Amino acid sequence: VLDAAFFVRWMTAAAAVIDREADRLTELDSPIGDADHGRNMQRGFAAVVKVLETEPPATPGAVLIAAGRQLISSVGGASGPLYGTLLRRAGKALGEAPQASPEELRSALAAGVTAVGQLGGSAPGDKTMLDALTPGVVALADSFDAAAAAAQEGALATVPMQARKGRASYLGERSIGHQDPGATSSALLFATLAEVAK
Ligand code: ADP
Ligand code: MG
Ligand code: MG
Repeated sequence: VLDAAFFVRWMTAAAAVIDREADRLTELDSPIGDADHGRNMQRGFAAVVKVLETEPPATPGAVLIAAGRQLISSVGGASGPLYGTLLRRAGKALGEAPQASPEELRSALAAGVTAVGQLGGSAPGDKTMLDALTPGVVALADSFDAAAAAAQEGALATVPMQARKGRASYLGERSIGHQDPGATSSALLFATLAEVAK
């Protein structure tokens, strides 16, 4: 069942995966950004884990809202408000129920992804986190594993894209040929979700 403890496990496992992959995320952010994405995500998710440990929320919605709030307040980069909005909006959509069904989670994350696009003024194809988040959420209708695979495929598909949003867009055509760091971290979040759901 997807109860509050499940969502805490997801966030905690995501923090561990991000720690492990931080150097790679920062390396991806170096040719087409400012080489801080791994560090930004590490700082944000460390703050998330800390608050979930000290004040464990009682519902899935409250876990995601608390996590989103931490990301917004602790990450300086663009990814903080964007991921924070994703989780906060998803948490609000889950409401105060003690458990969420997989379909409720899919629909909540879909609302979160829509909010990311509104905040960022971005859409799939712009070479951003949305290129992994959008297919990931769509495939969540099938299974957690399908969502992880679709998000990973979406992250890889950013390589030939020219960036239209974020720092990478300043490079114009020179952004082509590099994988987007935010799409890569989004794929990690879906991979972690599939792992904790097993
Ligand atoms: P910053 O660019 O401020 O240093 P990060 O390096 O932490 O922030 O995050 C960069 C990532 O944020 C990009 O790889 C991209 O996926 C995502 N991003 C940036 N701008 C937008 C946007 N407008 N919409 C969606 N995602 C964005
Ligand atoms: Mg950066
Ligand atoms: Mg930065």
